[in-house]
Amino acid sequence: MTDSGCIFCEIISDKAEASIVFQDDFVTAFMDAFPVNPGHTLVVPNQHSPDLAGLDELHAGKMIQLARKLAGALRASSLRCEGVNLLLADGPVAGQTVFHVHLHVIPRFIGDPCGIRLHTEPPAAPAREQLDAHAAAIKRALDA
Ligand code: AMP
Ligand code: ZN
Repeated sequence: MTDSGCIFCEIISDKAEASIVFQDDFVTAFMDAFPVNPGHTLVVPNQHSPDLAGLDELHAGKMIQLARKLAGALRASSLRCEGVNLLLADGPVAGQTVFHVHLHVIPRFIGDPCGIRLHTEPPAAPAREQLDAHAAAIKRALDA
């Protein structure tokens, strides 16, 4: 399933230019055109879904499997890679700008200019009751 006007669908079907690292029936990996660090790769399911919830389990599984392999390949490659961040922006508020779900595989090294941080300051730990309430809310939605 592809979506006309989607740049990632165009890359997957070879209608737009990209530097492809890997492609099979389920997933395609190519270099991010604006890499955070050299080697920044995108893993993209061949099935078009704007968001993670719309992606089937098979393609979601294939996406993480390929990201895992790429992380190993980056570490073994000639590119500088002392660690890896996996990042998936799901929704505009999370920073998503291309609405075909994708997983970033970002090589990291000491002193790199990349600023992926969940917190700028260490957060205060909530009370256990609050964490339990959050867990229960998510569990209810999982079980629904
Ligand atoms: P996100 O902000 O998580 O949706 O990430 C979208 C990513 O796609 C950004 O890192 C862009 O640099 C990258 N990108 C956008 N267009 C292209 C393209 N034509 N080829 C490769 N990467 C692209
Ligand atoms: Zn698409």
